[in-house]
Amino acid sequence: MSIVDDFEAIGARLRGLSERPTAAEPECSACDGAGWEMYSLGYMDPHFRQCEKCLNLKGLPSP
Ligand SMILES: [Zn+2]
Repeated sequence: MSIVDDFEAIGARLRGLSERPTAAEPECSACDGAGWEMYSLGYMDPHFRQCEKCLNLKGLPSP
């Protein structure tokens, strides 16, 4: 084992990390990724609040 081998091992590990699938962003199960949840539904007047679980991390506008 030489220092070069160590660097190669580290490089391989970094490549492995970067190759991890990042596109599959988990959708919030509470709001289905909408960022908002409806907590009350009045007559023609639904009330929305930012999802308490994901806190509307995407910054989506109120539906
Ligand atoms: Zn959510």
